[in-house]
Amino acid sequence: MGMKSFKRYSRHITRGPRWKALRVQALQRDGWKCVCCAEKIGLEIDHIKPVRDRPDLAWSLENLQTLCGQCHAKKTRIETGYKPLSPKRQQWRTLLREKQLPSEGNF
Ligand SMILES: [Zn+2]
Repeated sequence: MGMKSFKRYSRHITRGPRWKALRVQALQRDGWKCVCCAEKIGLEIDHIKPVRDRPDLAWSLENLQTLCGQCHAKKTRIETGYKPLSPKRQQWRTLLREKQLPSEGNF
């Protein structure tokens, strides 16, 4: 299942007055800030369990969380299979690039 169909799944839910009301409930519960990084600008409501997997939870307030655009994008990327490099691996890469270890025997 591609990214397109994934997006389409929640679109028919996040449209209309019913979603608007639920969205405000979630925002109020989370204190109008990103539950991940406490950002207060550009907030979006995320389905903790994707609608694709749990359409039955699409309208459940417990399955909603407030995320900023950045955190939301990060989560969506992971769900759709674009795994970011782990911090450890990234560190290692930088180390390899920056630290040109002197080779032994080169005195
Ligand atoms: Zn955030």
